[in-house]
Amino acid sequence: MATKLEKILNLETNVIAMEQELVKYHDMFLADGVIDDYEQEQLDTMFATINNVVEEIFQLKAALPPEIDKATFLAGKYKETNYSPPTGTGLFDVSLNPKSGRLEVLVKVNFTFEDGDAVDFNDLKGQSAIWSDAEIKKWKASYIALMEGRWGGKYHFHHPDLKNVTVYVDVEIDEKTSGWHYDLKINKIPKGEMEQSSVTHLGKRTGGVFKASKKTDKHSVDLDSEDLTFIDKGTDVKDKQKGAVHEFGHMVGLGDEYDDRKAGIKHAAMVRNALGTVLTEGNFDDVMSVGNTIEKQHYVTFLAALKKVTGLNKWQFKK
Ligand SMILES: [Zn+2]
Repeated sequence: MATKLEKILNLETNVIAMEQELVKYHDMFLADGVIDDYEQEQLDTMFATINNVVEEIFQLKAALPPEIDKATFLAGKYKETNYSPPTGTGLFDVSLNPKSGRLEVLVKVNFTFEDGDAVDFNDLKGQSAIWSDAEIKKWKASYIALMEGRWGGKYHFHHPDLKNVTVYVDVEIDEKTSGWHYDLKINKIPKGEMEQSSVTHLGKRTGGVFKASKKTDKHSVDLDSEDLTFIDKGTDVKDKQKGAVHEFGHMVGLGDEYDDRKAGIKHAAMVRNALGTVLTEGNFDDVMSVGNTIEKQHYVTFLAALKKVTGLNKWQFKK
């Protein structure tokens, strides 16, 4: 029989589904260019009703009996290899040291450096289509430092039953020539140029729902030599983006937040659940849109990993 918490979580999932549906209606109404007063009124009423239900769910959750006592928590061992978040994409190892509160997100990568097209480098003084050993060494070190520095340590988690326990996220990148989560293929391109980068997950689609394989040596990321430098994505958003930082978001299970011509944002339901905010697609300064800022909403797959690895559902963002 479902526990009280499971029932509440179920209810929450249904409410999120309703909300996503409503966002689609909003887009439909908007398709003819404007939302008229009548349409807006309908939407507002529905959103208000949903908000009331969400508020009730929060209260129900708060009133639940304790999940765990601190001594039991501190004595536990928490580790899972090849974790893939509920978004259906992303792959990493996760472990928690309950005493220090260090949640390690470990992404194992293989580096494949691909030489560029000689033609593109004609007349470019001091540049070559061929990766030099020194360039490779520098690129690897910069990639690792940038991902660990930009993605780690941003936000903290806490659990209402565990006084004085604060969990922080430590992102680690390890180079592995086998048993890797992602093969990074880095194409050499001339300085200042840009190429479309992307993450390819292998997996299965069942009933329209994609699930990435949890096996290693499967997924790949197409990058280029300029992905560690800021580029302007040509929108009216001031913030610039480093391609590799955005693609890393996909490697930990996040979806695109700019308008990718697909309905919805992969991690939107998880964000609604954890933070109560509704994500809409567009050009913003957020890292999963066209900018560079890592927000709380980009930590939802880490929060899910923490819940999974501890088997505890009440973890929340620390304010
Ligand atoms: Zn993307």
